[in-house]
Amino acid sequence: MIHVSLTPIPLRIAALIQERNSLLEYPVERLAGVIQEIGFRCVSCAKCCTRTFNGHVFLLDRDVTTLKALEPSALEPAPGPEFCDQNGIFYVSGYALRTQDDTRGSCWFLDNGRCRIYDRRFTICRIYPYMLHREADEHGDIDWRQFSGLDQHGEYDAEITDDESLDRARETKEFENAFLTQEIQFLEFMQDYFTRHRLRHVQKVYDDRIRRFNRGEEITVMVFYDGNLEPHRIRG
Ligand code: SF4
Repeated sequence: MIHVSLTPIPLRIAALIQERNSLLEYPVERLAGVIQEIGFRCVSCAKCCTRTFNGHVFLLDRDVTTLKALEPSALEPAPGPEFCDQNGIFYVSGYALRTQDDTRGSCWFLDNGRCRIYDRRFTICRIYPYMLHREADEHGDIDWRQFSGLDQHGEYDAEITDDESLDRARETKEFENAFLTQEIQFLEFMQDYFTRHRLRHVQKVYDDRIRRFNRGEEITVMVFYDGNLEPHRIRG
């Protein structure tokens, strides 16, 4: 079941702005310290480039622009659209990387365990496994999350220089800022778009269409990109 927030759009925008403000206040040196403490080194296991390990790879607009020029067939609407209007049209805040049709759901660009566009890989691929967003832990306590998949991939306790850890921390913070900004822009756009076109999110239509999609029917998804919506027909 896809979880859709039923919180009104203005409240969601306000919460994201608050989250972004607290992100901007987060000291980059603190994240750099965590990065040094963990001492993660990639061992090229390629786990993180599969859907079974990481769900989907969400792309910032600037990465979508690169990918549209490079290999547009590698793009797909990000899963879990945020809205569905009364006519059964879905809306999602951006694109994700397509995965291959294998058992692990390997990234489109993964070839024999190697990224075939490694030098041009996307922002999220560059900062991974570092992250900086607020998330509930197993007890429901919300706090900053700084690392993805601890002890499930890579090697630990490597020596990481001050400069390297600060660079990683700055890039991570910059990515999370860009991600939140894109989400805020999407919600602001949708608020205006729904008002102008007399549309509204209808949860019953959403659930019904998703059920039909899961049975193999086609749906229309409008993907937010570069300040506008791009239509896609996708089949479950
Ligand atoms: S683009 Fe490359 S680094 Fe990024 S998920 Fe795909 S295979 Fe991995």
